[in-house]
Order: sequence, then C-alpha cells, then structure tokens
Amino acid sequence: MKIAVFPGSFDPITLGHQDIVSRGLPLFDKIIVAVGKNANKQYMFSLDQRLEWIQQTFSDEPKIEVDAYSGLTVNYCRDKGADFILRGLRNPADFEFEKAVAQTNRKLNHQLETVFLLTSSGLSSISSSIVRDVLRHGGDYTQFVPTAVRVP
Ligand code: ADP
Repeated sequence: MKIAVFPGSFDPITLGHQDIVSRGLPLFDKIIVAVGKNANKQYMFSLDQRLEWIQQTFSDEPKIEVDAYSGLTVNYCRDKGADFILRGLRNPADFEFEKAVAQTNRKLNHQLETVFLLTSSGLSSISSSIVRDVLRHGGDYTQFVPTAVRVP
C-alpha cells in the first residue's frame, strides 16, 4: 500500500494545502495529513482547532487520514508504514528549504521518498502566515482557506 504523509503546521489549513492533498490523492492509496507539534513554535490556533478544520475539509474523502505527531517526521513515517512524504512547492525559497529537508530525511531513512507537487497557478501566493496577518487585521481571509475554516 502506497502511504504518504503530508506534514505541516496548518496554522490554519489553506486552499494551497487542500490543492496539494487533492492532487496527491490519485498517486497514493492513503494520505495522512499530519500536524507536526513543535514545542518551540508559537501557533495562532490550538492543535485541536487545526485538526478539526482539516478533518472537516476532507470529511468526504476516505483515503485521507488526519493525525498529529511530535518528533522527527521520518520516525513518524516509519511508525505509520509510510514510504512517501508529500510536500508542496510554491517558489524558489520553498525549493531551497525543501531540498535540504528532503535530502536530510533520505539520509535518515533511505526508503523514504519525498514527492513534490507544484502549486496550482493562482494559489502560490497563499501562505498560512499571510492568512494569519489578514485575520489579525480584520481582512477577508475566507477567500484563501477551505470553507471549514471560519473564525468567529
Ligand atoms: P511548515 O510549517 O512545514 O512550513 P505549512 O503548513 O506552512 O507547514 O506547509 C506544509 C506544506 O504545504 C509545505 O510543503 C508547503 O510548501 C505546502 N504549502 C503551503 N502553502 C502552499 C500553497 N499555497 N501551495 C502549495 N503548497 C503549499
């Protein structure tokens, strides 16, 4: 079974994330959207809130599982029997960063392949951090996120 882990902070999940997962679906038997818990990171939304929004977004898709993990992504993949990591690429900065992470992960586990999908055009300017900025300042964030994401 081809299992991919799509790791990230999803603070909050955006249309960019949704696009990558949806387009990854035909490539894998199962995609685990995995929220990484990083004790050194400050999040805008609680882990439970982020998980709930992801679950609602993909509630109609039986091939998608939603989970949280801490520690190394490679160890999480091993525990889940996943041979693939799925990541999205928006721009050259993403590429440089992702290259280093993917090459390191492959040194840690030679079985693991990272599969990259390019952002669909129109979505490459969306990032969770910009969505958080828009939210903080009362702008219309709804055009950047799945309908499940609504902040009262
Ligand atoms: P991280 O904290 O690991 O950067 P993110 O939640 O910001 O977590 O991103 C998770 C993954 O989603 C990364 O591979 C990132 O490149 C990808 N991603 C984020 N925004 C977009 C987007 N607009 N289009 C495509 N991929 C995206």
